Amino acid sequence: MSKDEHDHRHCLELFEKLSEYLDNELDEVACKDIEKHIKECVPCFVCLQTLKRTVDLCKQAENRMVPEDFSKKLKEVLQNMPKTPPAG
Ligand SMILES: [Zn+2]
Repeated sequence: MSKDEHDHRHCLELFEKLSEYLDNELDEVACKDIEKHIKECVPCFVCLQTLKRTVDLCKQAENRMVPEDFSKKLKEVLQNMPKTPPAG
């Protein structure tokens, strides 16, 4: 196994899908693609966990508990996020 085998372009593609993944808006194939990737890619796994927690916190507390550094990154992510009406 080569250390450089990991293709970070795939990480970027995946990153764009994470918000949809968290909202269960992806089809099964896309979900499995992400799940397979995060098993092999620790940075993406950590990112997904962090994003998931942050999204949960945002829903509960509307940014009050989000660390500043991360909220900056999250804003960049959210800007690329398709606008979806809140479910329910
Ligand atoms: Zn990755």
